[in-house]
Amino acid sequence: MEFELEAVLSFSGEIDEINDDISKVISDANEDILKRGIPNDVESGGASVVEHTTDGKDLHIKISSDRYVRAHDAVVRLRKKLSQDMGKKHHVGVRGINIERYQISFELEDEPKTQIKVPYVDNLNIIGKTCSISVTSLTEEQLQRNFVDRIINRIKEKVHHQYYGGKEEKWELVWESEKKDIVWKEDPTKVMEEKGWIKKGPTKGKWFYRSQAAKILKTMEDIAVSEILEPLGFEEIIESMMVPFDVWIDTGHMEGIPNEAYYISEPRTRDPDEWEEIVDEIKISREVPIKKLDKMTTPPKAGICYAQCPVIYWSLKNCTISDSSLPVLLYDKTSPSARYESGGRHGIERVDEFHRIEPVYIGTKEQLIDLKNDLIERYKHVFEDILELEWRMANVTPFYLQQAGEEEKDGKTELGTVDFEAYLPYRGTRENSEWLEFQNLSLFKKYTDSFNIKSQTRELYSGCTGIGLERWTAAFLAQKGIDPKFWPEGFVKRVGDLPKGIEIL
Ligand code: ATP
Ligand code: ZN
Ligand code: MG
Repeated sequence: MEFELEAVLSFSGEIDEINDDISKVISDANEDILKRGIPNDVESGGASVVEHTTDGKDLHIKISSDRYVRAHDAVVRLRKKLSQDMGKKHHVGVRGINIERYQISFELEDEPKTQIKVPYVDNLNIIGKTCSISVTSLTEEQLQRNFVDRIINRIKEKVHHQYYGGKEEKWELVWESEKKDIVWKEDPTKVMEEKGWIKKGPTKGKWFYRSQAAKILKTMEDIAVSEILEPLGFEEIIESMMVPFDVWIDTGHMEGIPNEAYYISEPRTRDPDEWEEIVDEIKISREVPIKKLDKMTTPPKAGICYAQCPVIYWSLKNCTISDSSLPVLLYDKTSPSARYESGGRHGIERVDEFHRIEPVYIGTKEQLIDLKNDLIERYKHVFEDILELEWRMANVTPFYLQQAGEEEKDGKTELGTVDFEAYLPYRGTRENSEWLEFQNLSLFKKYTDSFNIKSQTRELYSGCTGIGLERWTAAFLAQKGIDPKFWPEGFVKRVGDLPKGIEIL
């Protein structure tokens, strides 16, 4: 990796007269502060000021460096040192840094297949596996905020993605249930719609659950709470369903799923007078004047809950948790989740608004590995003894972690994600059809780090397990049908009689 930076440091006063003192600081820096950070076993390297001239209040410098001390870090170190020393002796300091040219070259893992474009880069040139970029328009503040490293990482990631992006997530069978008796091969969504248990809409990818379907979903929720969460000591919280972007930046969702999020705008003002024109139009035309509405609302700075865990982590951001409270076991079942599924929408199982319980756990690695096993035992009890499903578990790496290059490698499979999948007979044979992921369970290091959640003494891990009520219901009904006569006893006992519903003529 090579860095070549030409910059102008502007001082608060004339510096031609003190040229000698400045040269001395620079030659000392070349030996000392611009070399700090080079590993012991490396002979030479770091950064060097290779040219410098003064001109009125300006100092022009050229820095060459390698990866041990990147040139933009070197210039910041030099600025500080010059301000300190020249301030003491001559009462002048550096007021600003202006980048005139910044050229960086580095090696890529592979030759890109197609052209790569990245913002903040003025010029990007790739010959073979060597990439040269010019990032001259970056400001001093952007350099200090580490833009350069992230630009380089993004280029590498994009090339990597050209080779490995299309790959499916890793999938490894862990356990599978016995085959179960299948009572029908219908798509339960279609049949429930025909019977009036559910109604499509009012907007795309949403359902209105009439009382019969609502009772089934709510029974699934009760089963999850009473058979899994309460016995394991989880405590319920209630969170906001509007998630500000900075929370999603911390979890990685903002870069992972911006194409699936639903965004929220706010009114620019609550003053009714300013809304008068829009109200007039609505009253007269019985339509919403969308262009005018657009002018009266803000661009989004938040989205609707995509998964409940980010806000739970946010609630503990920068907190130190007492050892006696570990593991922290929380769940939310109030906030619905919204995802723009577009062409993927299907039935009640892939919708734009769904209802999940999301348990989140934070604790030491040992505590969470024990908890993972306990959770799996409780899940097995529910899926085997109550719902009597045909299902399986697989170790997978979720797409957003793969994409962020953050696949957690643990040697073993304790960290990472387990998907729970159910056979849907209406989709075809067990062997050739796609099974439905009806929930998952994950363990990470990532979120306690990004939200800076600490304990008194131990390193903390965290995880979550998304219990999708629509998916539990879709899996159950696809295998057992919608006639309670064929439902397993454990479920019948809990659901009781289905409501009569409304007879619509
Ligand atoms: P998929 O691969 O099916 O899109 P996902 O990986 O996006 O799932 P996660 O983000 O892991 O799903 O969410 C966890 C759980 O949330 C899923 O196991 C499922 O129960 C539920 N879920 C996710 N997306 C939907 C959806 N569009 N409709 C209904 N439930 C969903
Ligand atoms: Zn989660
Ligand atoms: Mg998805």
